[in-house]
Amino acid sequence: MAAPTLHRDIEGFRGEVLRPGDAGYDDARRIFNGMVDRSPAVIARCTGTDDVVAAVRHAVAAGMPLAVHGGGHGVVGHAVCEGGLMLDLRPMNRVEVRVSDRTVSCGGGTNWGQFDAATQEHGLAVTGGRVPSTGVAGLTLGSGSGWLERKLGFTCDSLLAAEVVTAAGEVVTAGTDGDEELLWGLRGGGGNFGVVTRLDFRAHPVEPLLHAGLLLYPHEAAAEVIGHFRDFMAGAPDEVGGAATLITAPAAPFVPEAARGRPAVGMVVLYVGDPDEGARVLRPLVEFGPPAVAMVQPMPYSALQRLLEAGNPPGLRNWWTADFLTGLPDELVDVLAEHTARVPSPTTQVAIIAGGGAPARVPDEATALGTRTAPWNVHFLSIWADADDDERNIAWTRALSAAAKPWATGGAYLNFIGDEGHDRVRAAFGPEKYARLVALKDRYDPDNVFCLNQNVPPSRSVATGR
Ligand SMILES: Cc1cc2nc3c(=O)[nH]c(=O)nc-3n(C[C@H](O)[C@H](O)[C@H](O)COP(=O)(O)OP(=O)(O)OC[C@H]3O[C@@H](n4cnc5c(N)ncnc54)[C@H](O)[C@@H]3O)c2cc1C
Repeated sequence: MAAPTLHRDIEGFRGEVLRPGDAGYDDARRIFNGMVDRSPAVIARCTGTDDVVAAVRHAVAAGMPLAVHGGGHGVVGHAVCEGGLMLDLRPMNRVEVRVSDRTVSCGGGTNWGQFDAATQEHGLAVTGGRVPSTGVAGLTLGSGSGWLERKLGFTCDSLLAAEVVTAAGEVVTAGTDGDEELLWGLRGGGGNFGVVTRLDFRAHPVEPLLHAGLLLYPHEAAAEVIGHFRDFMAGAPDEVGGAATLITAPAAPFVPEAARGRPAVGMVVLYVGDPDEGARVLRPLVEFGPPAVAMVQPMPYSALQRLLEAGNPPGLRNWWTADFLTGLPDELVDVLAEHTARVPSPTTQVAIIAGGGAPARVPDEATALGTRTAPWNVHFLSIWADADDDERNIAWTRALSAAAKPWATGGAYLNFIGDEGHDRVRAAFGPEKYARLVALKDRYDPDNVFCLNQNVPPSRSVATGR
């Protein structure tokens, strides 16, 4: 096998370049979703903004497809292209915390594990992804939902500025010291406008210990548990966050033997604030039962952020869809319970995330994100191991999502859907925001160089069909 070589053809590029056959090439092209198996002609591992500029200019001049790999968690697999050039941003993962003004900057390839470790050292946090290996950039550009959101807003609500390399290979700043409209577009408009090489956030004080954790019940109690969670959340303060989940109980030591491997209903709950007050406020949830597993206790925020890590290993096959919901009536809960009782894969998860709180109070026009006020956000995360089971799992997920559609708002949370077509992307933003995003796209990427994403095509390429 050939050793990695410096790519002399990419003028000015200083990072490592991998081609098929190079050591490390296969590891670098592999992403979270094991269904995605694409082989870029070149993987350019960028060490800084100059490398990104060099690689973007090279790809555009050569007419190569261009994929941007942040954390590699996008379920569609846009991070990696067949042929073409994959920009691997993972070496750009420096996190710089400025305690004096509570701001934090990170490179475009940072993941949440790296970000949380740096901010928590100073008792600070930004609403972050629920699995540490998810990329900060990809998640933020899709708006960013996390355990802290009802208290601190979506991730993009804390984004103050960003450095972006455009399709023309120019470096621009989004934010008050640069283009404010571009910052608006980056807050939920996805990777449409260029490569984000640096993100600057407002960070927030978050206690080193939070009262938080997991409750798990037999699936037979699904309707009662979800109904109780719904009713509790209706009056909960912003400090309370969480989700109801329909999963299969893992074969873990903390799960009673009789429950292991059986469908289950759970709640992840947290209180962002004083842990004693958290214990008091969360008591009606914790005392609902009896649960098969009750692990709600004071824990470091960074431990909460790792709670779902073991249940979400990389390399399995993933097919996802999601909807914002108008409500969570008993009838819908029954639909969810009935379908999940016959879930085809033990790794599949349905998560019902509680809305409301801080995100719902940010003025709608402040960000490109299309939906802020939905009371619930449901994720259908179908996950299995064998390619032979693709059809069965996808059919089950489609059927469940279709059965829940009568309660969907029609909007979509783009971070959690697959490739569901242009109309779905347009509907996610609504007509006014979509038109504003197209105008921004026309300015920054009129040839749709950055088309491997939840794409907002420029007006010119709608005409040419690129
Ligand atoms: C296990 C798991 C857990 C998740 N948990 C959450 C969660 O809690 N909350 C949530 O909101 N989402 C969550 N997601 C969804 C996730 O936010 C999106 O899939 C997001 O796009 C992933 O970003 P990434 O950088 O890891 O992925 P990538 O696949 O690398 O990137 C996805 C797309 O984002 C764009 N992009 C990424 N980085 C850059 C950059 N630096 N500049 C420009 N464009 C860029 C590109 O268009 C790219 O195609 C989760 C996904 C997984 C697999």
